[in-house]
Amino acid sequence: MRRRKRMSPRLLFCFVSVLLLCGMIAMPELQEPTLYRAEILSRTNQTTLHTRAAVGGLQAPALSSVIEPPAETEKEPPVAGNILGLMYHDLTENEANTSAWTTMPEKFRADMTALLEAGYQPLSLEDYAAGNIRPGQDYFVVTFDDGYEANLTMALPILTELSVPGTVFVITGSVTADGHMTWDQLRELTASGVVTVYSHTETHMKANENTSQAFLADEHTAWAQIEENLAPAMKAMAYPHGAYTRETMEALAAEGYAVFAVQDVPWWYTVGNEAGVQILLRYNVAYESDILSIAELSRSRAGLPTIAEATAIRAEAAAAERAAKEAQRRAWIEYAKAAIRAEGERSEKTK
Ligand SMILES: [Zn+2]
Repeated sequence: MRRRKRMSPRLLFCFVSVLLLCGMIAMPELQEPTLYRAEILSRTNQTTLHTRAAVGGLQAPALSSVIEPPAETEKEPPVAGNILGLMYHDLTENEANTSAWTTMPEKFRADMTALLEAGYQPLSLEDYAAGNIRPGQDYFVVTFDDGYEANLTMALPILTELSVPGTVFVITGSVTADGHMTWDQLRELTASGVVTVYSHTETHMKANENTSQAFLADEHTAWAQIEENLAPAMKAMAYPHGAYTRETMEALAAEGYAVFAVQDVPWWYTVGNEAGVQILLRYNVAYESDILSIAELSRSRAGLPTIAEATAIRAEAAAAERAAKEAQRRAWIEYAKAAIRAEGERSEKTK
C-alpha cells in the first residue's frame, strides 16, 4: 500500500507543543481553563493518531491517565448585594422651596454620584422586575412619584449624563396639572430611553382606606391612559403613600403587573411579601437626607455589612481571585510542559 508523504509526527508534535506553550505563557489570564485543557487533549490525540499510524497501531496511554490537569477553583460572591430603592418627587432650583418631597438638581446629582462612588450600580425597574442582577453587587433603583415637570427638565439631563435609568410613577389624574407633565412631556421622557413611566393610580388613592373594588377601578382608569399614551413594555405601579393591601396586590399581579413600588412605611414590615410578587421597597430621599445614611440603613435592615466593610471584603476577594488565577495559570504551564515531556518520552520509545 502506498503511503502518503506527511510531516514527521514528532516534528508536528514539537511544533504544536511549542506553539501551545508560547500561547499559554503569553496569555495574561486564563479565563476558560477548560478550553485550554480540551485544546491540549485534542491536539495530543491528533498527534497520538499520527503516531499510531506511523508505528502500525501501537496505542499510547491517554494523556489524562499520565498527568492530572490542575483543578479549577470555584468562586462564591464575597457578600450578598443590596438593592436600594429610592423615592424622589419634585425638584426645584430654589432652595427655599426644598422639602422632604422636593430636592435640588445638584443635590440629586450628588446623591447619584455618592452611590456610584460607594460601589452601587444603577438598576432599571425593568431589570429589577426581571431579576437581572449579579449576586454580590449593590444596586440602586431611582424612582419619582406623581409626575412632576422637573423630572423631565431637571432630573432627566442628570440621569442621562450619569447613565442612570429612572422610573416615573405618574398620577394620571394630575397629568397637565400645574407643575406636572403633559402626555406629550411624558412621551418625551420615555423617548429618551433613560426613563420609563408607570402608574401611581388616577387619583392618588390609598388602598388601605378604600374598598379593593374602588382602588382597582382607580388603577384600571390610570393604566388604560398609560397604555394608550405610552404603551409600556411591562405593567408596574407605585402604591400612593406606600399603602398597599394584599388583596389589591394579588388582583393586579393576576392582571400581569410585574412590580409594585412601596415605601418604608410601618405597614411594610408587618404585611410582608405574602402575595409572592415583586415589591420594590423604596426610601424617600428628602433634600436634607444623607443618601449614604439611607444606604447604610437599608443595608443594616437587610443584615448586610456596611459599605466600608463590603468594600474591604470585595477588595480582599478580588485580590484572592487574582492570586488564584495566577496560580491556575502557572499550574497550566506546568501541565503543558509535563504533557510535552510525556509525549516526547513516548515518541522516543516508539521510534
Ligand atoms: Zn404619590
